[in-house]
Amino acid sequence: MIKKEVLDAMNEQINAETYSAYMYLSMAAYFENMGLSGFAHWMKVQYQEESAHSIKFFNYVASRGGKVLLKAIEQVPVDFDGIVDVYEKTLAHENHVTSLINNLMNVAIAASDHASQNFLMWFVDEQVEEEANVEKILSTLKLINGQGNGIFMMDRELGQRVFVDPNTVA
Ligand code: MG
Repeated sequence: MIKKEVLDAMNEQINAETYSAYMYLSMAAYFENMGLSGFAHWMKVQYQEESAHSIKFFNYVASRGGKVLLKAIEQVPVDFDGIVDVYEKTLAHENHVTSLINNLMNVAIAASDHASQNFLMWFVDEQVEEEANVEKILSTLKLINGQGNGIFMMDRELGQRVFVDPNTVA
């Protein structure tokens, strides 16, 4: 049986991952409205990934005999100041999620919950990848500096992103 402090922190994380999904969907809507369908597609894949993270926590809590408790999702940002602003907010958000995962790991360590520590290691690795992906996009965006041609090429490239469901491959 999972300890209460770990269960509570996991339930908070389900809310945070669902918030992330919803925020990226909002960013997809922003790009869609700008006519940037590739950027919008990338954000929709991001939405799918975050939803999958939420389900991963959901399934883990259930497998440990805990009760999933869903709380209200906070309002997400709906307006942005251009493409760079969206990716700067994305990077800031992923840095924040990394700190949430690290705090969750600290709770699991304090509770001597080895199974949860092992489960959370996947997310520790995932956050390294998330931050690296966004940093790469952000540096490319700054390099092309809003240039039409560069944006067009990036839109095509980001439109190729494929969602891989972590709940079926790992
Ligand atoms: Mg996530």
